[in-house]
Amino acid sequence: MPTNRITPVSQALGDVHTVFITGGAGFIGSHTVDFFLRKGRRVVAIDDLSTGCLDNLDEAFAFPNFSFIEENVSNVDWLGLLDRHDTVVHLAASVGVKKVCESALVTAHNNHVPVEMILNAMREKGGGRFLYASSSEVYGDSPLIGSSESDFLQVHTHLGGRSAYTVSKLYGELIALAYAEAHQIPVTVMRFFNTIGTRQRSEYGMVVPIFVQQALLSEPITVYGDGTQTRSFCDVGDLAGAIFSLSASSHSAGKIYNLGNPEEISIYELAQFVKAETGSNSPIHLLQFPPERADDTDIRRRKPNIARIESEIGWRPRIHWKQSVRNIIRETAYIAPVLQAEKHAQRFHH
Ligand code: UDP
Repeated sequence: MPTNRITPVSQALGDVHTVFITGGAGFIGSHTVDFFLRKGRRVVAIDDLSTGCLDNLDEAFAFPNFSFIEENVSNVDWLGLLDRHDTVVHLAASVGVKKVCESALVTAHNNHVPVEMILNAMREKGGGRFLYASSSEVYGDSPLIGSSESDFLQVHTHLGGRSAYTVSKLYGELIALAYAEAHQIPVTVMRFFNTIGTRQRSEYGMVVPIFVQQALLSEPITVYGDGTQTRSFCDVGDLAGAIFSLSASSHSAGKIYNLGNPEEISIYELAQFVKAETGSNSPIHLLQFPPERADDTDIRRRKPNIARIESEIGWRPRIHWKQSVRNIIRETAYIAPVLQAEKHAQRFHH
């Protein structure tokens, strides 16, 4: 990817209302960037490319009102960058069960420090709009079916597990809402449930791209546990639409919203669908949970209640999970020969 596509910070500045999207080269980030650009907004994506990648921004780079800053969000001079009319959609985070379990300290730091930095800059500038990406992780393994924003939270605090992610996201929510109250900054907290779609990568432990890749490479599909655990998958295009609607609404300030698709399926059902859709001969294997999901830390059921965003903002998901999975299959099939070659090379080296 040519580095001359990266815009220097000075050129990214301007006097027009700008939407800054942190983590903008990531899976959810890049789709959000595309959505805001298609709506005619001026967008600056900020990403250190640690898990994001510039290829995700191919469509965005075709827009003249798009700029990209390659930088870690903690190193950005937010005070110098922001204007009091700007919006920040803060998506940058350490994500993926595999990755977040590697280092609790890095995850905790990355997920909450920038929140305070950005909000401090907004406070000094005397304005701005802040949308914070939190997670359904904060509901933990709730016995309630269909998590609502006002539920009591059940945070697992096993050290070394995913709790660094959960606690850091919850702390981010607290800081964001506390700033909103103390300094009258319009802040919206978005709790994302499982999101799927094109550009999602398998190496951070996300189930759908993993199953699709396994099926296309004729490898066993690895269902953990007995596969009866459930998830509710929202298409990333729908999610980007929800973020846009929240940013454009005056009702959403100072509030928390669930963003997701309430249609719930079991992981075994997902494996069967992927196998059937790809016409794969992969067997479906039931395996023990890996260490980062062991000791009952894998969530049994996850399903959002989205009544709040439906009634207050008028948003609801439109894309069925089967359609999203088909899109992922189409995208992955295109690169399957490359993935196959990489696997062969890895086996050869070992
Ligand atoms: N999962 C699985 N096989 C895999 C990867 C994940 O069965 O190879 C399961 C995992 O145990 C969980 C579900 O798929 O129950 C969703 O996992 P993901 O990491 O995508 O999302 P999260 O656990 O954060 O909801």
